This record gives sequence, C-alpha cells and structure tokens, in this order.
Amino acid sequence: MTEVAVPAGSRPPVLAYPLGDALYLNLTSACTLACTFCPKIRVGDWVVGGFDLRLERAPGADEVWSQVEKVGLTGRSEVVFTGLGEPTRRLGPLLDLTRRLKAAGVRRVRIDTDGLASLREGRDVVPELVAAGVDAVSVSLNAADSVTYARICPNRFGERAYEACRGFIRSCVGGGLEVAASCVALPGLREEDCRAAAEALGASFRWRPYDRLGRLQEGGPSPGNRA
Ligand code: SF4
Repeated sequence: MTEVAVPAGSRPPVLAYPLGDALYLNLTSACTLACTFCPKIRVGDWVVGGFDLRLERAPGADEVWSQVEKVGLTGRSEVVFTGLGEPTRRLGPLLDLTRRLKAAGVRRVRIDTDGLASLREGRDVVPELVAAGVDAVSVSLNAADSVTYARICPNRFGERAYEACRGFIRSCVGGGLEVAASCVALPGLREEDCRAAAEALGASFRWRPYDRLGRLQEGGPSPGNRA
C-alpha cells in the first residue's frame, strides 16, 4: 500500500497526538497488510480518538520531533509508535526518534507493529530496536495459523508472513523486550488457539473485541498491525 494522497495544505498532518497520559507518534499511512477488519480498509475511516491520521506524505524525524516538543513529553506514561500505518516501514526515523525520546528521559517507548519488519528489511531488525532503546512491542499476530492469517490480512508475502511475524516475536522476546501479541476477535477465530499461539512464543496475549478495535480506541490502529 502506498501513502494516500490528500490535497496538499488542506490540513496540518497529525504526527504526535495525546490520548490519556500517553503520546502517540504517526510516521506513515502505509501498511504491509490490508486487514479485512481495518476501519481504513473497510470504510475509509482514518480517525482515531478524534485525530485524522491520514498523511499526504511520510514525515521526517525532525518534523515529528517538532510536534513532540509542542505536545510535550512531561508526565507521559509511554510514547507509542502507531497510527493507521506500519511504523517500522519508517525504520530510520523510528530509530532516530526512539533515541531522542530516551535521551529526553521517556520511560517507555513502545511500537505497535505488524511484526513484519525483519521480513521486509531482509534482516533481523530487533537488535536495532533494542539498541535504540525500544522497551516494548505490541505485535498483531492476528491468527493461530498461516492460512487464516493470509486470508484475513492479505499481503504480498502471503502465508509466509505469518511465520515471519512469529520469528519477529521470538526475536523480541529473546532481545529482552516486553512483548504482547494480539488477535482481533473475528468470527471463526478461537481465543484459546490464538492465546496458545502467542504464549508459545513467549509473548503475553491480548484478545481484541472486534467491534471495539482496541488499538484504535487506544491511539493506534493495528488490530492487524495493528492495530
Ligand atoms: S489493521 Fe493495522 S496493519 Fe492492518 S491495514 Fe489497518 S492499519 Fe494496517
């Protein structure tokens, strides 16, 4: 998926937005998955917590940091890379911003992700996340098997994306990150199967109500990535 164009100058981009006591950073509108349950895919809804997250172009780290400084870091429980796009598709700015956040004293930096960064980049990127200072990842595992995964989250890698996601989770656990894996409670998915798949990888598990789209309510998308 490519960035979705909106008329230039029609609105300022939302790159950093507060929800609760956390701050969320929006680096891209592009995803690797086209999740069948995603509001932007289903109904073209890009609004999260009152913020329209659609970007006309991918912002640079300095642009994001400028909004971080405006919105403020004081009192934030965590800073989360999320949005209605896959943050690790902007790996360079993500690592740069993570280093800046940690240098500024942010206690917890988390990424909401599809877990496909290493597959896309062709190398295990987890050591880079760890070295930059990422503390936690919330990974959209999405299913308990590869066939179901590819059906509900169509993507250019097909079924092998599922094993790549599992490998990413394993690597994050091995790298000492706090790892939560989630699935959306779609009809036909069994919570116990999904939980077992997540816990077998060493991750904690979150079962996201389908009609609430958890991450959307909490500041990011990706029940599929998101989500
Ligand atoms: S659910 Fe997340 S990963 Fe899936 S298409 Fe939507 S934003 Fe992208």
